[in-house]
Amino acid sequence: MIIAGTPVTGTGPQIRGFDPAAGQQLDPVYRYGDANDVQAAAAAAAEAFPVYRATTAEARARFLDDIAARLEAAGEGLIARAVAESGLPQPRITGELGRTTGQLRLFAEVLREGSWNGARIDTAQPDRTPVPRPDVRQRFIPLGPVAVFSASNFPLAFSVAGGDTASALAAGCPVVVKGHDAHPGTSEIVARAVTAAVADAGLPPGTFSLLFGTGPGLGTALVSDPRIKAVGFTGSRGGGLALAAAAAARPEPIPVYAEMSSINPVFLLPGALGGRGAELGRAFIGSLTLGSGQFCTNPGLIVAVDGPGLDAFVAAARAALAAAPATAMLTPVIAGNYAAGVQKLAARAELVGRGEPGGETTCHAALFTTDAQTFLASDDLQAEVFGSSSLIVRCADTAEMQAVARGIEGQLTATVHADESDHDVARELLPLLELKAGRVLFDGWPTGVEVCHAMVHGGPFPATSDSRTTSVGSRAIERFLRPVAYQNVPKALLPSAVADGNPDGLWRRVDGVLVSPAEGP
Ligand code: NAP
Repeated sequence: MIIAGTPVTGTGPQIRGFDPAAGQQLDPVYRYGDANDVQAAAAAAAEAFPVYRATTAEARARFLDDIAARLEAAGEGLIARAVAESGLPQPRITGELGRTTGQLRLFAEVLREGSWNGARIDTAQPDRTPVPRPDVRQRFIPLGPVAVFSASNFPLAFSVAGGDTASALAAGCPVVVKGHDAHPGTSEIVARAVTAAVADAGLPPGTFSLLFGTGPGLGTALVSDPRIKAVGFTGSRGGGLALAAAAAARPEPIPVYAEMSSINPVFLLPGALGGRGAELGRAFIGSLTLGSGQFCTNPGLIVAVDGPGLDAFVAAARAALAAAPATAMLTPVIAGNYAAGVQKLAARAELVGRGEPGGETTCHAALFTTDAQTFLASDDLQAEVFGSSSLIVRCADTAEMQAVARGIEGQLTATVHADESDHDVARELLPLLELKAGRVLFDGWPTGVEVCHAMVHGGPFPATSDSRTTSVGSRAIERFLRPVAYQNVPKALLPSAVADGNPDGLWRRVDGVLVSPAEGP
C-alpha cells in the first residue's frame, strides 16, 4: 500500500496478482491493510484537504497533467503488468492507458476553463422595496476526502488513477483508493506515479493513498470513517448497495456514487431489422463478445418485433457466436459468477446458441430468447450477467416493445436501431427510454464510451445509486463539489471566483445573465 507517500506493507492476509490467461500467480506478494491503515490514510487526507483545496485551478491542472505524463512514462511496464493481471489483450490495455491519460488531461482542461466554479453574483439592491436585496454570490467548493473503489474490469481507466480519482482530485478533494485484488501490481505502478506527482507538486502527501483489503472489512471501514466525505464506486450491485448502506448509517451520512448493474437494452425497430437484420446480428455479436463481455455497457438485452427480420438477425447472430472463441475472464470469481448467471438464464429462457467452449475461467458466450410476456413477468431475466450473455425478447408488435421499455429497470444505456421509416415508432420510444437510461444512442452499440463533455455514464437505479450524475466525462467533477452562497461578505474577504474585478477571469452569471470575463464586473 502507499499511505500518504510512504510505502507500507499491511499486516493482513497475503494477496498476489493472478494471470487469468496463463492460470499463474504473479510476484510480488502484497498484504491487506487493516483499520489502522484506514485511520492513517483518512487522517492524512483530512490533514491534506485544507492545503490541497486552497491550490489554484492551474496548480491542480498541472498536477493532473503530470500524473498523465508519468503514466505514459511507465508505458510498457505498466501495460505488460495490466495485460498479465487482467488477461485482456495488449491493444485493449494500450487503448485504456490512452483513455486514462486523456481523462486526466480532460479534467486539467476543465480546471483551466473555469466554469466548474459555477460562479454567480446577484448584486445588492439596497433600495428594493419592501425589503432590500442582499449581495449574494455563489461558487462550488470541494466536499473533502473521497474514497474511490477500483473496478476489476478497467485496471487503468476505472481504477487507481481512473475517472473517479481524476474528477475528485480536479475538484480539490484528496483521494484514498481501495485497490482491486484483481490487479495489485498495476495498482502499485499507478499509485507510485501519482505519489511522485504529489511530491513534485509540493502537495501534502495525504493528497493520495492506496490501500488493499477486503471490501466488507477495510472498504466498509473506509466509507464509515468520519473524515471521508464522498465515495466513488464501480462494481456489483451487491457491493455498491453495501457501501451505500454503510454511508447512510454513519452519524453524518455521505453521498455514494456507485455505478452498478445494467443490461443495456437494444431496440431493433422494424424498418432497420427488415432491411439489415443479418448485418445487425453480426455486429451485435462483435459488441457482445468484446473483452469477454466484461463491460458495464455490454448489450445484455435485444428487443424486437417477431418476424422474418428478427429471424435473419438471430440466424446471423447464432452463426457469428458459434465462431466466437472462448476468451479469458478477469478473475476466477468473475468467471464463476458468469457461469452461474448463464445457468440461471438457461433455466428460464430458450438457448439460441453459444460460442466456442473453453476452460473454467473463460467466457463461453451465450445467447437466449424469450417472449415479452415471460420477460416482463420475471425479475430474474433482468439480472445482469457480467460477461458475454444476452437475451432476445420477441415482441408481438411495437406496442409490446414499448411495454418492455416501460418494464425494464434503470440502465446506463438504451440503444435504438432505426431507419427513417421507423421514426414515428422511435419518436414514441425515445421519451420512455430517456426515463430509463443515462445515455440513449442510435444506430451503434453501447460498448465504447466516449470521454467528452456531453457524455453521461450514469442512469437510474440500479445502473447507479444517483442518477443525477455521470462517472465519465467532464460533468463527473460535479459529484465532488457543493455550492456555497456568500451573503453580504465584505469585498476584501470574498473568494477570488466571485470577487469584484473577476481576478480568475471566469464566465459568471451576474444578476441572472451569463457574462464573459471581458464584459463582467
Ligand atoms: P465487486 O464484487 O462489487 O467488487 C468491487 C469492489 O467493492 C471491491 O473492492 C470489493 O472488495 C468491494 N466490495 C464488494 N462487495 C462489498 C461489500 N459487501 N462491502 C464492501 N465492499 C464490497 O465487483 P468485481 O469484483 O469487480 O466483480 C464482481 C461482479 O461485479 C461481477 O461478476 C459483476 O457482476 C459485477 N461488476 C459489474 C460492473 C459494472 O460495471 N456493472 C463492473 C465490474 C463488476 P472485495 O474485492 O474485497 O470484494
